[in-house]
Amino acid sequence: MFRVCRRYCGADAVGLGIPGAEAMPFLVKPLLAAMANALFPARCLGCRQLFHRQAARAKEDGSEKSDAGRALADYFCPVCSGQWTAVASPLCSRCGMVFKSRVGPDHFCGRCLERPGTFTRARAAGAYDGTLQLAIQALKFKGHTHLANPLGRLLYATYRHYWLDGDIDLIAPVPLHRRRFRRRGFNQALLLVKAWPLSGEVVMVRDLLARNRPTPPQTGLDRRQRRINIKNAFGVSRPGESVGKRVLLVDDVLTTGATAEACATALLKDGAKRVDVLTLARA
Ligand SMILES: [Zn+2]
Ligand SMILES: [Zn+2]
Repeated sequence: MFRVCRRYCGADAVGLGIPGAEAMPFLVKPLLAAMANALFPARCLGCRQLFHRQAARAKEDGSEKSDAGRALADYFCPVCSGQWTAVASPLCSRCGMVFKSRVGPDHFCGRCLERPGTFTRARAAGAYDGTLQLAIQALKFKGHTHLANPLGRLLYATYRHYWLDGDIDLIAPVPLHRRRFRRRGFNQALLLVKAWPLSGEVVMVRDLLARNRPTPPQTGLDRRQRRINIKNAFGVSRPGESVGKRVLLVDDVLTTGATAEACATALLKDGAKRVDVLTLARA
């Protein structure tokens, strides 16, 4: 999914839109890309203004927040690319909720102290707002599956930021029920992790979990209703596969954590050693 020129320069070929771009000599491809970019500006998925992709890249400042700007710069203008909130400490050491107070170290939030739950810790790239929210919604509900590429890169960068080599054995995308999968045509969680450049020790198992029954969308339900709605909705499709393993569960958004808790329950019941959660956004 990371479409790069493998033969010559290794540069990103996304957005070039020229058949056979990977086979072009290294001087020709960037030149054609610059010409295509100058002649055919992209339309921002946020504000709908036309913009030049190279200009968006030039605005990067090397900060953590620019990771998302860089990831989304082919699809959002320089202004929109920066309009989102990166997750930053202080946050809940377990569920990853960002505290309103911006001073002090990470610590457990009141809810996690009261009810520790089943997964060990959850982390996200950003808050579910601004451009990140728009991009996730465009991917999920408008079929802009090409956004899985930059969003997947952002998610991978977040994974590498919070987890060290050897921390995780298995990566499992949260599954959709087959009926919803048929309707949508893809599982966004799987699209996000499919192209991760994983080392041999970490394995992505696309069907580690299965959704046993269809559940109404969680949107509009409160915390308790979400928990009831999703209870026992997940099981393992490969019994014994997760025994003794540290599993990283991946999804697009974590809201109350009810879905992640239900998935973690199924995995721990199967014998997983621990379950962590990574999402693009934290609502
Ligand atoms: Zn814009
Ligand atoms: Zn918490």
